[in-house]
Amino acid sequence: MSEKAPPKIVTLLDQRTVRPSSASLVLGPRQRVVANGLLQDTLHRPLRDLRISVTDRCNFRCSYCMPKEVFNKDYPYLPHASLLNFEEITRIAKQFVAHGVQKIRLTGGEPLLRKNIEILIEQLSALRTVEGAPLDLTLTTNGSLLKRKAQALKAAGLQRITVSLDGLDDDVFRSMNDVDFPVAEVLEGIEAAREAGLGPIKVNMVVKRGTNDHEIIPMARHFKGTGVVLRFIEYMDVGATNGWRMNDVLPSAELVARLQAELPLVALEAASPGETAQRWGYADSHGKHDVHAGEVGVISSVTQAFCGNCNRARLSTEGQLYLCLFASQGYDLLSLIRGDASDADIASAIGRIWLGRTDRYSALRSAQDPSSDSGKRRVEMSYIGG
Ligand code: SAM
Ligand code: SF4
Ligand code: SF4
Repeated sequence: MSEKAPPKIVTLLDQRTVRPSSASLVLGPRQRVVANGLLQDTLHRPLRDLRISVTDRCNFRCSYCMPKEVFNKDYPYLPHASLLNFEEITRIAKQFVAHGVQKIRLTGGEPLLRKNIEILIEQLSALRTVEGAPLDLTLTTNGSLLKRKAQALKAAGLQRITVSLDGLDDDVFRSMNDVDFPVAEVLEGIEAAREAGLGPIKVNMVVKRGTNDHEIIPMARHFKGTGVVLRFIEYMDVGATNGWRMNDVLPSAELVARLQAELPLVALEAASPGETAQRWGYADSHGKHDVHAGEVGVISSVTQAFCGNCNRARLSTEGQLYLCLFASQGYDLLSLIRGDASDADIASAIGRIWLGRTDRYSALRSAQDPSSDSGKRRVEMSYIGG
């Protein structure tokens, strides 16, 4: 009996992009790709990390991500029916895991706004890697609902958590989230996560020159020695709505120099091959890493591209697969999963898409000039997640 032909994969033009994309629909040979954990893209990058956006909605309006002027009451958020449900997410995630994914991060929008997110966490935490190990299952949140939810998230099987926090000064924080949300509640959320055993906790701070760069040292001092790993992220030109300018970026090299002047640091090895952050440990009086003081990380997405070992795929809220944070189009897995595709069909589709992956936006851009851009309309970060 002849084998069923693999389903056709259709690249989707994201509805939030304005310019039609001319990207090729050709995805390579039409033979079935069997998931065996050995998948590599055209640049020999494996597939290890899956970020799943569970909602495109958020209760914050950070100007670098969901500026109020654009994400207002008239913004066309996705209707509930077009969101992947939990069973669909888990079924797709399972095929990614069969291809070698070891880490899953839930994100958004604000993932804790998704109703009953604990049920999804429970389902995902039952998955096992190709080697039979539990997944590294984590979630990125703005922390606003964490105090209320930390225990339930841990009980559902979440291992650790990343909280975004752009400053300790209440006025700075309220103006950056642009909904007047107080910093104290996020700090209480971090405390609740610690008490629940969601560790190690990471805190992400997006740094914008002239807006919150004076909070770098206070943030470092606050978290030093607490076990929380603070990571500074260069403000990125993601999406098409944040009015990004190179002048607003504080390059990580400058940030590290500022830190060094106050709190001596030593460079640390990367924790894993696909690690996005460069690690710096607090130094003791002999210039060695003081493990009790801990470490910070810098994520230099703009000034030092790390595309060479980028092993991350992104699944949007409505089931489109994106191969890069800066992609302008996704691959439609939703219609596969809502059609008659088998698990092997879905795994094969994912395999073929990854085999054809060439994305390296940051590397190409910084090879020219970090402030230059391709001019392409890109998908918003709140839609595919950070
Ligand atoms: N709402 C959650 C949160 O804020 O943690 C999860 C989604 S958010 C899109 C994920 C991460 O992306 C956050 O740490 C946020 O600070 C970061 N982010 C959003 N826009 C960014 C930008 N333009 N540049 C750098 N990081 C950005
Ligand atoms: Fe919401 Fe997170 Fe984007 Fe801020 S960064 S607007 S909290 S999704
Ligand atoms: Fe990965 Fe794209 Fe970022 Fe490069 S620009 S590191 S390929 S997500």
